[in-house]
Amino acid sequence: MSLIQLSPRVEELKQLLTDFVHNECIPAESEYRKALGEGAQRWQTVPLVMERLKKRARALGLWNLFLTKEYKEGAGLTNYEYAVLCELMGHSPNIAPEACNCSAPDTGNMEVFAKYGSAAQKRKWLEPLMNGQIRSAFAMTEPAVASSDATNICTRIERQGDGYVVNGRKWWISGAGHPKCAVFITMGKTDLAASKYGQQSIVVVPADAPGVTVVRPLTVFGYDDAPHGHCEVVFDNVWVPAENLILGEGRGFEVIQGRLGPGRIHHCMRSLGMAERAVELMVDRVQNRVTFGRKIVEHGVVLDYIAKSRMELESARMLVLRAADMIDKVGAKNAKKEIAMAKVVVPSAVLTILDRAIQMFGAGGVGQDTPLAEFWAGMRTLRIADGPDEVHTRQIAQLEIKEQNAKLAARKRTAMNQGDSRMSNLNSEQVEAPAMQAKRKADSNASQQHDEQLKRARVKDKSLRGPKPSGCDLAFSTSKPKDHFAPLYGKPMTSRGAAAELLNLEPAGIQTD
Ligand SMILES: Cc1cc2nc3c(=O)[nH]c(=O)nc-3n(C[C@H](O)[C@H](O)[C@H](O)COP(=O)(O)OP(=O)(O)OC[C@H]3O[C@@H](n4cnc5c(N)ncnc54)[C@H](O)[C@@H]3O)c2cc1C
Repeated sequence: MSLIQLSPRVEELKQLLTDFVHNECIPAESEYRKALGEGAQRWQTVPLVMERLKKRARALGLWNLFLTKEYKEGAGLTNYEYAVLCELMGHSPNIAPEACNCSAPDTGNMEVFAKYGSAAQKRKWLEPLMNGQIRSAFAMTEPAVASSDATNICTRIERQGDGYVVNGRKWWISGAGHPKCAVFITMGKTDLAASKYGQQSIVVVPADAPGVTVVRPLTVFGYDDAPHGHCEVVFDNVWVPAENLILGEGRGFEVIQGRLGPGRIHHCMRSLGMAERAVELMVDRVQNRVTFGRKIVEHGVVLDYIAKSRMELESARMLVLRAADMIDKVGAKNAKKEIAMAKVVVPSAVLTILDRAIQMFGAGGVGQDTPLAEFWAGMRTLRIADGPDEVHTRQIAQLEIKEQNAKLAARKRTAMNQGDSRMSNLNSEQVEAPAMQAKRKADSNASQQHDEQLKRARVKDKSLRGPKPSGCDLAFSTSKPKDHFAPLYGKPMTSRGAAAELLNLEPAGIQTD
């Protein structure tokens, strides 16, 4: 469904893509799964069916649709138009996006090269990525630090002669397991003395550079998502030439902001497709099973599930389309609030819909015979990946407060100009400050509560006192990530251990305030 009239070209693409996804991608899902096989083979196999579908998508003109019209390398669509098409790929999320060369994290990485890459970087990396010959990964998150605050990232990228040396440990690096993964777009600190947002830079690290080790794949609720996976990766004295820096030293934030904006709603667009497929499966299922003398669909509560799922799906779609339209009209930077709202609302709405569909399948819903359980697992990660809900919610609230204050101030100015004594008698505190005051009060309460918790945790054990914590110190002092199972579940917790774990404090000897 679209709010804006689509051009004949986009209508045609929509029809072609609908047919491609339903007649070729969905039927290929089980062949793809079987081709991956078992064990180590899962990380060494590029199923032939995928290569076949790529050729087919390319021949149909369904290739690289994500790169919007401001890029000469792209398919010439708007973000809004792409949203409508990307949702269709989401019906078969393991096959269709890759078959159309529109899958994450490659789309975001190609956008980085297209937007910020030098001519040489484009030749070396963008071209083969756009041709679907190689795949890529984006390496930001680190096990040692809370990475939802990207200023914490502490991989070092140090200038040495005519190049940079990269040292750090990353994890949850999607795509790193793929046999065709040829390049890591890697974030780290080049200048520890620079301002908070000027310390990080982005370099391009070839996957075969000496010192790059893919340590292990991580699982998502037991799914390995092979062959691309989400992996832990170590960069140990990896040397790259100076020209592998993207945009310039200290400009890492600029690059990740540019990358994550549209990328975040691409996930939302695909999620809507997954929800559509879930509703389709659910509606079919409940009409074909009988309990207590009637079809499951005839039980009133089930009608409620179906109606709610449709309403939630449509509401979620409105947010995605609005965010896409805003990116087209005012740019990703000025559409921050709309992007964040979609990023928070869509995964939760789709999770609820998937949950209902799983319920309607009974035990069958949690197994491997429908895609629902796997969809649910993937969708749950979207409430964390690309920034957790809370971080986006915080940003939405901050922007809302700013907008409300501006509105109040404008009203006051108008009232003063019109000589409205009621409004003009209010001082600026009364007119402009309530929202800011509320925010200050909330911040102060939260901070007081946090201090109290820390105090309680420390009273019992002075060993928590020590130097101020630094994620970077930890990153370089631990050869492997902390095993959270041992202290929490493996052995009895000491009071310090319990409090520290629960409050997410750092290990003994490190003070957290
Ligand atoms: C399947 C999957 C794929 C991923 N792919 C990639 C990838 O390709 N590349 C990459 O670099 N990273 C990737 N990630 C990592 C992801 O981006 C991070 O997990 C995410 O940014 C959160 O960082 P963190 O895990 O360090 O959580 P932390 O920063 O430790 O945060 C933990 C929790 O604290 C809470 N929290 C944080 N800040 C606030 C706040 N301001 N207010 C209230 N609560 C807060 C949130 O609930 C959050 O979940 C992936 C993650 C998953 C699960």
